[in-house]
Amino acid sequence: MPSLAFTNRRRSIVAVILLIFASLGSVVVYQKRHGRWEFLSFRRWIQKPEVIPLFEAKDAMLRSGNPALKEVCITFDDGPHRESREQILAVLKRFKVKATFFEVGMRMAQNPDLLRRTIEDGHEIANHTMYHQNLPGLKPDTLHKGINDADITYYRLTGKHLRILRPPGMKFDTTSLAEAKRLGYIVVSYTAASADYGDNVDPAKVVERTLRNTHPGGIVLLHDYPATATALPKILDQLTREGYHFVTTSEMIAHLPPKERQLALKVWNGVEEKQQLPRPAFLLPSVAQSTPAKLATQNTKSVPKGS
Ligand SMILES: [Zn+2]
Repeated sequence: MPSLAFTNRRRSIVAVILLIFASLGSVVVYQKRHGRWEFLSFRRWIQKPEVIPLFEAKDAMLRSGNPALKEVCITFDDGPHRESREQILAVLKRFKVKATFFEVGMRMAQNPDLLRRTIEDGHEIANHTMYHQNLPGLKPDTLHKGINDADITYYRLTGKHLRILRPPGMKFDTTSLAEAKRLGYIVVSYTAASADYGDNVDPAKVVERTLRNTHPGGIVLLHDYPATATALPKILDQLTREGYHFVTTSEMIAHLPPKERQLALKVWNGVEEKQQLPRPAFLLPSVAQSTPAKLATQNTKSVPKGS
C-alpha cells in the first residue's frame, strides 16, 4: 500500500499534466476558431510586423488617418437613399458631426434634393461610381465612364468636381487604380466595417461592431440605409463620450503626419506642397475658431460634351 505522501505527489503530477493538456487544448481551439496558426510559427516570432502606410503614393490611396490623433472619419456609402438620408442628416446635425458621403451617380440624379441638403449641411461628397459597378475587369471605356459619369452628374448639379473615390466593395485592380489616379482621385479605404447592409440588419449589432472596430485615425464604413440611421445616435454618442473628434476625409488627409501629408497633397494638387499646413484646430485651444486646412478645390477635370 503506497504511503500518503506518495499518493499526494502522484495526484499533484496528474493535476499538472491535466493542466498542461487543457492549456494546449485551448490554444488549439483558439487557433482553429480564428483560423490563424501563425501564432505557432517560428517565422512570425522573428519577423517584424508589417507596417501598412497610412497613405500609399503609388495607388494614391488613403488607408487610415493619423493614429496619433483622437479623430475619426464617418463615411456613408451607396446613397443618397430616400428611406434613410434625411434621418442620417438629422442625427449628424444633432451631434454636430460632419461626415463624408460616397454617393452613387445614378442616385444623385434621382435624388438631387437629398444631395443638395447634404451639401448645405456641410458634409463632404465623394464618388462611389455611376451605377455601383465592380471596377475590376471592366473594359477601359466602361471603367472610365463608371467613375467619370458620377462626377459629371455631380458637376451638373453643383458646378463642382469630385476628388475622392471609393470603389464599390473596395474592389479594385491595377487598371482601375491607375484610371482613378489619372482622373486625379484619392482613393479612400476604411479601417472599420460594421456589415450594416443587406436584409434583416440588427442596429444593435451595427453599433457593437462599429464601436469595437473604431480606433484613433479610423475611417468608419457605414451605409446610407435605415438600420444604420437607427444605429447612428448610439455610435456618435459613445464616440463623443470617448473624446473622438469627427473629420471629413479631406480634413483627415490634411491631418496626416508630414511625410504622408506631402505625398497626398502632391497627388491632390499635382505639385509639391511647399507651405506647412497648420495643426488641426482642436489641438490648438487658443485658436479654436480656426478652420482645418482646406485642400485645393480647383477644377482639373473637364466635362466631355454630350455625355
Ligand atoms: Zn457601395
